[in-house]
Amino acid sequence: MQIIRDIATLHRAVAALKQGGKSVALVPTMGALHEGHISLVRMGRRVADHVVASIFVNPTQFGPNEDFAAYPRDEARDAGMLVEEGVALLWAPDVGVMYPAGHATHIEVAELGADYCGAARPGHFDGVATVVAKLFNQVRPDIAIFGEKDWQQLAIIRRMARDLDFDIDILGAPIARADDGLALSSRNAYLSPEQRKAAVSFPKALQTAAAALANGDDMYETLAKAEAAIIAGGFDSVDYIALADADSLEQLATFRASARLLAAARMGKTRLIDNYPVG
Ligand code: AMP
Repeated sequence: MQIIRDIATLHRAVAALKQGGKSVALVPTMGALHEGHISLVRMGRRVADHVVASIFVNPTQFGPNEDFAAYPRDEARDAGMLVEEGVALLWAPDVGVMYPAGHATHIEVAELGADYCGAARPGHFDGVATVVAKLFNQVRPDIAIFGEKDWQQLAIIRRMARDLDFDIDILGAPIARADDGLALSSRNAYLSPEQRKAAVSFPKALQTAAAALANGDDMYETLAKAEAAIIAGGFDSVDYIALADADSLEQLATFRASARLLAAARMGKTRLIDNYPVG
């Protein structure tokens, strides 16, 4: 596996991979890889001839009081995992390559990025959309794979690809969970062993609420119960818990087919997100 840090070399390497009409799938990540990321890579291996992974901890998607500096970084370990999975090349640019001096243009995500995680993290999805658009132009993949774990992000990227005419198939991969149900996340590493145990209350409460909503239970009551269960389980606060249309992310007052239950909660310094289909 080649590790590439400059755009000219990347273009040559991807062109070589594409020779003979071969297809390329891109799996963008911020590193600190776990089985969730690896499931995306495996999907890439199934749907394309070659997988290109990227690792870039994107400063523009972190707010001023967020964990950019503390975000876990271990490129050597990550690269070892990607080699094992048969990844063809790793695109790992420095910040100065991604954002050279004078970089001034960005993508603005309108209503899709305003609520849910966007409300607690102003500018976050503009940063995500801009870096993903740049990754698309840098790598020029046929397919790009994102996790359903970040449901709002996946919906925004699908919309961006459509709005900006990227000729790239956007695929969503199912959420990889630990045995107790907690969605795998690089941020789980921030949790102490006690916090990690308590964190199971989050997916449990969401799963229970999703089943209740599909069953026709009252939405406000169900969401209030879920929020109480998350707090009782050891979380300090719930940023949001909402029923949304799976594609438009429009907030729903009642259950309908294609609804998704979206939530974010904080335990100490750690903010976790999760989502479940309803029905
Ligand atoms: P990140 O490194 O956290 O930016 O994540 C990179 C990609 O992996 C994103 O498309 C995430 O949605 C996806 N991802 C992260 N965790 C999981 C998970 N537990 N299951 C599925 N996909 C995931």
